[in-house]
Amino acid sequence: MRAYLNPTLEWSSDEAEEDYEGCLSIDGVGGPVRRAVAIRMSFEPPEGGERKTIALRDWDARIAQHELDHLDGALYVDKLAGELVSTEEARKLRDRLHRARGWIPAPDGTAAATAR
Ligand SMILES: [Zn+2]
Repeated sequence: MRAYLNPTLEWSSDEAEEDYEGCLSIDGVGGPVRRAVAIRMSFEPPEGGERKTIALRDWDARIAQHELDHLDGALYVDKLAGELVSTEEARKLRDRLHRARGWIPAPDGTAAATAR
């Protein structure tokens, strides 16, 4: 786990995609949200010193955008691209997407053909 103090979104890609999110602030459900695939974020390092910039993409970029939204008082449900489903169903749908993207192995352990 890493800490980023006072993060600011500096840039986000025009390329975006949907994925399923949940949140500890909203128990029992999840839903699809369309977000930028890549971002650059500046932050103050916890150890002090000058602000730094980090480039994130895919799931890491999604998590950062989700957390940046919290700092702006927004929740993923404010940006839903579809219906809310149970947490269990959201995890199944998310895992299906992540297997198709090659981010997690298929249930039989083989890598997805569409890995990037
Ligand atoms: Zn959250």
